[in-house]
Amino acid sequence: MESDSLFTQANKVIPGGVNSPVRAFKGLGIDPIFIDRGQGSRIVDTQGQSYLDFCLSWGALITGHAHPEIINAVSAALLKGTSFGAPTILETQMATLVCDLVPSIEKVRFVSSGTEAVMTALRLARGFTRRQKIIKFDGCYHGHSDAMLAEAGSGVADLPLSSSQGVSECVTADTLSLPYNDIGAFESLIAQSADQVAAVIMEPVPANMGLVVPHEGYLARIRELTQYYGIILIFDEVITGFRLGLGGAQEYFGVYPDLTCLGKIIGGGFPVGAVGGRSDIMCQLAPLGPVYQAGTLSGNPIAMTAGLSTLRYLATHSHIYKDLESRVTQFADAWRKSSPLTITSLGSMFTIFNTSQAVNNFSDAKKQDFALFKKRFLEYVNKGMYTPPSMFETSFISTEHTYEDLRQLLG
Ligand code: PLP
Repeated sequence: MESDSLFTQANKVIPGGVNSPVRAFKGLGIDPIFIDRGQGSRIVDTQGQSYLDFCLSWGALITGHAHPEIINAVSAALLKGTSFGAPTILETQMATLVCDLVPSIEKVRFVSSGTEAVMTALRLARGFTRRQKIIKFDGCYHGHSDAMLAEAGSGVADLPLSSSQGVSECVTADTLSLPYNDIGAFESLIAQSADQVAAVIMEPVPANMGLVVPHEGYLARIRELTQYYGIILIFDEVITGFRLGLGGAQEYFGVYPDLTCLGKIIGGGFPVGAVGGRSDIMCQLAPLGPVYQAGTLSGNPIAMTAGLSTLRYLATHSHIYKDLESRVTQFADAWRKSSPLTITSLGSMFTIFNTSQAVNNFSDAKKQDFALFKKRFLEYVNKGMYTPPSMFETSFISTEHTYEDLRQLLG
């Protein structure tokens, strides 16, 4: 056991050695890097090797690793106890802040992951409209609940099939998936089936097929049609929430959904998700209404403390969003001058696609050269840079990353 690698040891007791598939470095020719600690823009592995981190816990850490304000707040909260399963003031403070910051959220409920937030939003939409069908978009990822595992992005994009085994066909029969950025496809599906559609769920800026930027007017047209037909529009802002700005993608583009799913940044590195939106829809949730949802650790005081201190930090340093965007834009411009490979960027997010073609949807993203991705990923690792270990993911920077850090990616 002692002489086995950490990954071999992990594989003996954990399927695939990991607790989430994309961490396994599958097909990349090296074992996953086991992380010991992180500080600011860097992580350090168990061998003491330091890496500039452009993955940042899949976008969760906008203030970088071990931010002192979050660590201090969490350390103090721990001394008061870790979980009560009863209301705390923290939950109301956090909900008030989220309602203040995210334009379309009038009421919010906290859960423990983005997956749970999406499950709840879909159940709410079905309960509210009494319709069954859900429209999603190819290559968008909305967590691992059954209904969302059709034509999904992120780790599902690496599966040989377009969906997961173990999902009942009658569950995905109500999930309709369309190409992103194709307004004609959306309009014709709506023309046929609007009266059966409970919800349209989308990442307003898809970040799980690599980063894809919405075409001008695309989100607004979807909003217009969903509103007209009484279809609940759900923005899954698990990645974009508090990342594109305090008000997420909805504020960035000025298009407001009925329900919003949040995750990642909202937990400050702890497991928090949230679903929020129109009061009349949110009030369908138990105990007020007939749509059931619950969670033992929902609104956990340690997680709420980490989330609150993160959101308060962002709200009092809101200039960071322009700073981060200008760093990434400068980098993307420099990349375009030095490499034929396509780069997309928005705010503090970017993806270098392993193709020289434009990427506007999942089928474009799938045309990448995996061998080239693998070569580039391993070169970055050797130079002390940790980029997402899949070509269908987005890179992030934090407030702790400088332009010099980004420049290292240029080689
Ligand atoms: N929605 C989006 C847009 C995501 O990117 C993710 C995770 O990456 C999820 C939902 C699921 O969140 P979680 O992994 O917290 O369940």
